[in-house]
Amino acid sequence: MTATIIDGKAFAAGVREKVAAHVARLKEENDITPPGLAVVLVGGEDPASQVYVRSKGKQTVEVGMNSYEHKLDADTSEQDLLALISKLNNDPAVHGILVQLPLPGHLNEDLVINSIDPAKDVDGFHISNVGLLGTGQKSMVPCTPPLGCLMMLRDHHGSLSGLNAVVVGRSNIVGKPMANLLLRDSCTVTIAHSRTKNIEEVCKQADILVAAVGRAEMITGDWVKPGATVIDVGINRIDAPPEKGEGKTRLVGDCHFDSCAEVAGAITPPVPGGGVGGPMTIACLLANTLTACCRANGLAEPEGLTA
Ligand code: NAP
Repeated sequence: MTATIIDGKAFAAGVREKVAAHVARLKEENDITPPGLAVVLVGGEDPASQVYVRSKGKQTVEVGMNSYEHKLDADTSEQDLLALISKLNNDPAVHGILVQLPLPGHLNEDLVINSIDPAKDVDGFHISNVGLLGTGQKSMVPCTPPLGCLMMLRDHHGSLSGLNAVVVGRSNIVGKPMANLLLRDSCTVTIAHSRTKNIEEVCKQADILVAAVGRAEMITGDWVKPGATVIDVGINRIDAPPEKGEGKTRLVGDCHFDSCAEVAGAITPPVPGGGVGGPMTIACLLANTLTACCRANGLAEPEGLTA
């Protein structure tokens, strides 16, 4: 393997440290309510969601912020959920609101997300934030992958200006915001998708290749330009080899790591081995909450932690 590894876990730890230092300075130098993050979980029978929400709460407190958890029953009505969001929108101690997705089927996700005050929408999914990002204006940017990947790319390359970036995938939560952010950093951006012709050749033009496809190990080394930076956003569960035991599964990315790492200059390892995963998502969520708090108080935004 020749590529440098871009270690998402280590990077996330660095982001959390920067957030904690900034929060400490905010508290010391300003008479303001410390940043507060409210996480709303509806239902939450899914153990993965519970673990995720718990670790968000723990890490929020660890960086010196206030954490507010709201666990609602799975059969909570839309009216009650909207009433809670309205309360959080009006609470000056809450700077960031995150509603854990997916919501139970009887709740309208778009309606719920768009009821969050855009200034507190730390997930960056509110239609106003999507529009602001699309028009190159100041917004809340989706945490991971887009914001986390952008931070890692800036850290690795310094300036991204003029680089050819190919984003494979055009979803609203990953591909499109990622492409918009790269465009804002003056990359020449191509978005590839399931109808793209000669997709291997398109990918081979990329100085920066972001894979957000949801197809296990689809991108192999022969799609990668020598020396390119490969960011693998994909998380795919596939069957483990038979020797691991019947019914066992494992996680792989959208990139075939070994072959891509032979050609790339730098690459993120597949999740959960330190790539673009949970730790980066939470670190960026904390960064967004801090940014929201600074904006709410008319203070300078935290350097290196925003888009
Ligand atoms: P999605 O909504 O399913 O979108 C997948 C995109 O890939 C679509 O635009 C689709 O094209 C394109 N695509 C599918 N098959 C293709 C093919 N054979 N060739 C070229 N393009 C193809 O998925 P998503 O929500 O964006 O997620 C993408 C991946 O990121 C998934 O593996 C997901 O698990 C992972 N993810 C990771 C994180 C993280 O924190 N690391 C967070 C969210 C998602 P069309 O539009 O033409 O159908």
